[in-house]
Amino acid sequence: MVRQSAGTGSVHEGILRRQSARESAARTYARALPIVPVRARGLTIEGADGRRYLDCLSGAGTLALGHNHPVVLEAIRNVLDSGAPLHVLDLATPVKDAFITELFRTLPRGLADRARVQFCGPAGTDAVEAAFKLVRSATGRTGMLAFTGAYHGMTAGALEASGHAFDVRVTRLPYPQDYRCPFGIGGPRGAELAARWTESVLDDPKSGVPRPAGMILEPVQGEGGVMPAPDTWMRRMREITAARSIPLIADEVQTGVGRTGAFWAVEHSGVTPDVMVLSKAIGGSLPLALVVYRDDLDVWEPGAHAGTFRGNQLAMAAGTATLAYVRENRLAERAADLGTRMLSQLHSLADEFPCVGDVRGRGLMIGVELVDLEAEASAETEPGAEGEGGVGGDPAGGGVGLRSGSDPADGRAGAGATARDRSDRAVGPTDAQGAVRAPRPAAPDIAAAVQRECLRRGLIVELGGRHSSVVRLLPPLTISDEQAAAVLDRLADAVAAVARGHTRPDETHQSRRRNGARAERAG
Ligand code: PLP
Repeated sequence: MVRQSAGTGSVHEGILRRQSARESAARTYARALPIVPVRARGLTIEGADGRRYLDCLSGAGTLALGHNHPVVLEAIRNVLDSGAPLHVLDLATPVKDAFITELFRTLPRGLADRARVQFCGPAGTDAVEAAFKLVRSATGRTGMLAFTGAYHGMTAGALEASGHAFDVRVTRLPYPQDYRCPFGIGGPRGAELAARWTESVLDDPKSGVPRPAGMILEPVQGEGGVMPAPDTWMRRMREITAARSIPLIADEVQTGVGRTGAFWAVEHSGVTPDVMVLSKAIGGSLPLALVVYRDDLDVWEPGAHAGTFRGNQLAMAAGTATLAYVRENRLAERAADLGTRMLSQLHSLADEFPCVGDVRGRGLMIGVELVDLEAEASAETEPGAEGEGGVGGDPAGGGVGLRSGSDPADGRAGAGATARDRSDRAVGPTDAQGAVRAPRPAAPDIAAAVQRECLRRGLIVELGGRHSSVVRLLPPLTISDEQAAAVLDRLADAVAAVARGHTRPDETHQSRRRNGARAERAG
């Protein structure tokens, strides 16, 4: 795999050296992934040093079709060759018209026939800001409901500094988690408790939370550590918000376009949100972001949401090609199928290596959480908390004994996992007194070591999660079975090397600093 000459090596080193001397201390991926990509195709990136890597970061989940897919390149070339303008603000063009037609064709039923679209500045975070503005205008209210572990972007205060007096008051509510359930229960009942908490915050006149303008959620939290929301919980959020006239905003920036095994992740639960925030894959690897919403929310005055770069014709053409290719080739189904198989193999890895605390995901959005075996599991919860008739019984069923990703009614990838002993990998195993044992502490250093060992083996993976202890896989939906096997082989090899202590020391402290920053982002 290593095809490095003295010449290519020095180019590579020189570029990296100049990067660290000239670019901001806030740079992120570049710290843990000191590579210099020069060519890429599909899953593969080639570095300036001649090394080739399997890219399971995919531009932070942007590249649904991998790098430089032929249909994407053709779409871009067609626009370039046609002499069409590349920059047109929000004017109508045939390229944009075709994009909207393809986009609306894919939207969840219930939204498609009543949808309006607003193109935003080119990043996901711009579309999130637009969604907040929209629901504030529509409801006349200001506060927002969001969830622990959420990640919606990096902008803050741009509107404030522009003289818009938007008081962004956000109330954080518990996002359901199986492995580190804040209620110590996990599974369907943990999710039900999380839903009840949300309900009580909204209905208790003394909760200190006035009726909000909207609720924003990710159907699968990505940066938060690959947390698939149970479908029952998604439906509860829909019911709770609908009953109180609170617009529900689904942030599908990372989960959209087939990534989770459905074209849009909300489709798993059948929930129709009032607003969807879309970016990443919809631009076919080029910057594009938009907000789609039901027409009755369209109370904006002309110019209420503006921005110079809302008419990127190349991104729209690349996006049209990507959306159509995913739809026509049923890549969402492919993601569901392959994701389930990959998760099952990763469960075997977890059985072999106790430092793998949990494996979870949906479709081709997969997370492997590393834990610290030398530290004691943190807290214990009440005896019998899992027993029949415990708090928050699950109307949809789901048996005791099924652990991580374990709600059969939810159909999440991994739901078919057996109830074999995953002692340190699941909330739920009980000790002799019947107390539910908490999982072992997260191990960001071990995760960073696995990431480094993956890179040494030619595999690019991302870290995420509240503690930056989750190795994340976001391969393109076009990944072949053979490539998936190669990814899992390299990952398994890296985990084995770390578990056996056969790793190279961390040359810099940069990855740790970067991970700390991401952990903060993930809340
Ligand atoms: N929303 C979600 C769910 C995301 O994962 C991200 C980025 O990772 C964003 C919003 C922000 O998108 P951007 O980085 O393009 O601003």
